[in-house]
Amino acid sequence: MFCNKCGSQVENGQKFCNKCGSRLISNVQTANNSVKCPNCGSGNIVFTPITTTSTEGKTKGFGTGKSCLGFILFGWIGVLCGLCGMGKGKSKTTTQTEVVRVCQNCGFRF
Ligand SMILES: [Zn+2]
Ligand SMILES: [Zn+2]
Repeated sequence: MFCNKCGSQVENGQKFCNKCGSRLISNVQTANNSVKCPNCGSGNIVFTPITTTSTEGKTKGFGTGKSCLGFILFGWIGVLCGLCGMGKGKSKTTTQTEVVRVCQNCGFRF
């Protein structure tokens, strides 16, 4: 680890810096060590961001209704316009980024 005041390298678990004598706070180290794997009990945990993508097909019903209405008003051209709108609505995707803890010992995610 490194001293957060002067930036010089110090050994892990050391309380004070050799160079400037300031008190060392091992923030990341202790945070990771406090987390234990519920599967194997290992303290070797890594925080990994994962991206999940979900597709919503909600607008399908709306699109069909729109094309029916289009047929009454404008004939086949109206139907085509309605179907175009349906296709656009279908491709709605939501992307979410979530941080998960991954055990380096057994690969368990929690
Ligand atoms: Zn220092
Ligand atoms: Zn584990």
